[in-house]
Amino acid sequence: MALPPKILIVGGGVFGLSTALSLSKRHPDSQITLIESAPTIPNPHGSSVDTSRIVRADYASSAYSKLAASAIQKWRSTSWGAEGRYTQTGLLLVYPGNSASAKKYAEKSYANVRAIEGDNVVYLPTKKDVLGVVPPYGETLDVAGGYVNWGSGWSDAGASVKFVKELLDKEKKVVFKHGEVKRVLFDPSSSKKRATGVEMVDGETVNADLVILATGAWTPRLVDLRGKALATGQAIAYIKISDAEQRELENLPTILNFATGIFIIPPRDNLLKIARHAYGYRNPITVPVPGSQSGETMQVSLPETGVPVPLEGEEAFRVALRQLLPRFVDRPFAGTRICWYTDTPDGDFIVSYHPEYEGLFLATGGSGHAYKFFPVLGDKVVDALEGTLEPELRALWEWTEATPTSASEDIFDGDGSRSGERNSILKDELAKTKKAGRGSVL
Ligand SMILES: Cc1cc2nc3c(=O)[nH]c(=O)nc-3n(C[C@H](O)[C@H](O)[C@H](O)COP(=O)(O)OP(=O)(O)OC[C@H]3O[C@@H](n4cnc5c(N)ncnc54)[C@H](O)[C@@H]3O)c2cc1C
Repeated sequence: MALPPKILIVGGGVFGLSTALSLSKRHPDSQITLIESAPTIPNPHGSSVDTSRIVRADYASSAYSKLAASAIQKWRSTSWGAEGRYTQTGLLLVYPGNSASAKKYAEKSYANVRAIEGDNVVYLPTKKDVLGVVPPYGETLDVAGGYVNWGSGWSDAGASVKFVKELLDKEKKVVFKHGEVKRVLFDPSSSKKRATGVEMVDGETVNADLVILATGAWTPRLVDLRGKALATGQAIAYIKISDAEQRELENLPTILNFATGIFIIPPRDNLLKIARHAYGYRNPITVPVPGSQSGETMQVSLPETGVPVPLEGEEAFRVALRQLLPRFVDRPFAGTRICWYTDTPDGDFIVSYHPEYEGLFLATGGSGHAYKFFPVLGDKVVDALEGTLEPELRALWEWTEATPTSASEDIFDGDGSRSGERNSILKDELAKTKKAGRGSVL
């Protein structure tokens, strides 16, 4: 399908940048503009930017396993993964004795990656086998078994976003614009409302034939996504370690426990990261319903940036460290951060034209696992724009319902890999933290 000449992408994270890169190659005559509200790309508050992100084909879903395998090929053997942007030290996926769902996810994932990586994937039926793979982890490790996939790794997420931005700057085919989009503009006279561009917060309008929203966890402010997507805050903490500790830990696999959601990625530059892949914190805010003429409002969960991890999250990390790496249990955190997932009901992305508005396309819904696809994601987004996306992915990513199904109180189950408290409100947790006399948890 031919694409219209003037294309506007909003958002400079992995969805927006990879789309810009693929569009600039496949549609070199299009006029492409990318608007980002942060003053810099990489945006330190964006979901795509961090010290590290896991790169794994270890999924219970074979569609994501296959797609991740194609991305991993690029991380491994092209400039995507060069200069330290990709490090392949493996992924150790473990489950405790008391979580049937975590064990089930691990077993499905094992079967999927074993088919792709063969002998790179080793089943570890007992705790002793697990400890054999990560000797520096303590006897306190609370696991019943798992497997290790030596074909997985991790990527320096800030460096990779910078790499793609620099590629685009060099190509000069995409115009970058700094500013916050307030709303999408529509031509009300067309029978199916047609997007005509965006209005910026300062009142400026930017016209386009096609508007692609790659606005991550902020998207529910621009499109009514009730029942479709919401922002959930996930906890991350960093621990400063010595040179000797760095050498001891840097070549270990990432450890991921789907029962607790806790994962530890091998350190770089004397910084060890511990994080939690969970239901997360919600941050309900009342905002106008996008496109409403009558002043209608809705409550949606949106990101709150620059806040520390609440006491509850810090304590969960301490419990996990006691089990995993007890020597760090009392070491102060060098920093903490809430990073925002754009969660969807099943953990599937939204890569689709909006069913109600012509010329409006969404590339979002990363659900805490989109980063690894950076090298291949843009091509899939452009396939979807052109109407040629393979049916298996289209079935997962296409927006099929025109009407939102329910209110913002949704707590999505995701892909079965989530754990923890299901109904946690960030403001309440921060208030509890303050009450406990901890203005900051650092
Ligand atoms: C804690 C954490 C850990 C994760 N771990 C992994 C992992 O190990 N492996 C993995 O594969 N994935 C992981 N992910 C998921 C992955 O990082 C995300 O799915 C992906 O980065 C989402 O990219 P995005 O482009 O949708 O969002 P973002 O990177 O947030 O980009 C959206 C951009 O849009 C901009 N924007 C928003 N609204 C507007 C507006 N109105 N006007 C202009 N600009 C706007 C924002 O400023 C932002 O820069 C993790 C995510 C988090 C938060």
